Amino acid sequence: MTNKSIGISDELAKYVVEVGVREPDVLARLRAETAAMPNHQMQIAPEQGAFLALLVQLVGARRCIEVGTFTGYSSTAVALALPADGRLLCCDVSEEWTSTARKYWVEAGVADKVELRVAPAAQTLDELLAQGEESTYDFAFVDADKAGYDGYYERLLRLVRPGGLIALDNTLWGGRVLDSDAEDEDTRAIQALNVKLAGDERVSLSLVPMADGVTLARRR
Ligand code: CA
Repeated sequence: MTNKSIGISDELAKYVVEVGVREPDVLARLRAETAAMPNHQMQIAPEQGAFLALLVQLVGARRCIEVGTFTGYSSTAVALALPADGRLLCCDVSEEWTSTARKYWVEAGVADKVELRVAPAAQTLDELLAQGEESTYDFAFVDADKAGYDGYYERLLRLVRPGGLIALDNTLWGGRVLDSDAEDEDTRAIQALNVKLAGDERVSLSLVPMADGVTLARRR
């Protein structure tokens, strides 16, 4: 196989953000505030925010779900891309992190589009399924505990409509997906999910080597 990737230096990554991302001021402020926090590496890159926003528009999404909200960068980017009657349901277990998200949803003028459920996401997704919301969502983004990914994916695959899109972050996992001797639960979970998705006939698939890897799975 020929590797056509040019590799991304720090300088080139900066250039991508300069010319390839139209980051709203509110997201730039959120990014700066989060950068000073512990766990700041959990925030997605600005080019990912732009990418998610574009995907939402391409899918024509109105109903979205996010698993793993952290301080709100991705949810704010997605909510800004939604039409006025669009809705985003956010799942997270941290009141502390999502308090920052709430603040920025208000600042961005999207608070009325976003609903936050502070609970284990698998529980929230099961509730949606029990409420008859199968096949009613257009777009989902997963960026949470890696060991939980497969469970979130299976539930989301039922919740999104045919043609709906599920995006999963960190599917290259810092390159550790190549470590066949890996013993930690997160690495093994991502490895197993990637292998499963490669042969999953229920979706069309693309693993985009952006940032730490973003897998796109479109329900057939
Ligand atoms: Ca992530």
